Formats: sequence, C-alpha cells, structure tokens
Amino acid sequence: MSIEYGEAQLLPGEKIAITTDTATEPFWKKAKERKLTACRCASCGHFRMPPTPYCPECQSREMSWPDLPGTATVFSFAICTRSPYSGEPLIYVPVVVDLDGAPGARLVSNLIGIKAEDVEIGMKVTVDWNPIQDDWLLPIFRPV
Ligand SMILES: [Zn+2]
Repeated sequence: MSIEYGEAQLLPGEKIAITTDTATEPFWKKAKERKLTACRCASCGHFRMPPTPYCPECQSREMSWPDLPGTATVFSFAICTRSPYSGEPLIYVPVVVDLDGAPGARLVSNLIGIKAEDVEIGMKVTVDWNPIQDDWLLPIFRPV
C-alpha cells in the first residue's frame, strides 16, 4: 500500500533568507540571472559544492563559475508533511540532485511540479527559480 501525499508544494519564498560570503556569492549572483552554476577549481577542474575557499583536491584558491545546463538527476529525496515555518500541514520534497555538467557536484534543493508519491531516485529534473528574501532567487527543480 502506498501513501498518497499529493502535489509537492513550493516553500514560501518570503520566509527564506540566505547569507553570502566571498566563496558563495558568485553562485547567488548567477542565480539572480536565472543561471545555474557550481564552483569549479580553476586550477585542476574539480567541482565542489557547497563552494569553499580552497579546492579539496589541490588547495588552489582559484575558482571558476561555468554556466550549467540546469538539468540534474535526483540522487536522494525526502517527503515532508509539515511546514518548517509554521508546523501546519504542507507537503514538500527536499532533494539532493547531481548537477549535469558538473561531475561530482550535488545541490540540496526542493522539487515541485509532481505528486510527492511519484518522486523517484534517478529521475531527470530541470531548474526553476523561487523568489526569496532580498530579491535573491533560490534554485528549485521540477521534472523534465
Ligand atoms: Zn583544484
């Protein structure tokens, strides 16, 4: 017997705030242009997410931020049934996705546009954008 949760909901953007630092700001600035990127070592090419000041492979501080295609594959997910803000009933689906064009880079996000009970590991998804506090855009995903 499978549970029917219903449509995965968007988290309320007005409740979501981010902070940036020198290592993460390029990601958020590209997101504001609706471009998905990931931190790539400009010295050895290793992708790392979340961005960190030093490459874990070669210790270089040089970073590049290539435009990615915006597609990804669901690596893992959860189905949540309560709002993290109010505790009221809310169906939403946190996901960890493998980013296309950035081998080894994963992003924690949310999935919408699908019934929660239909989400599967390995499914192809594409980026969309959720407006959040301070005019930032949060990358979220929906099925291709
Ligand atoms: Zn490196």
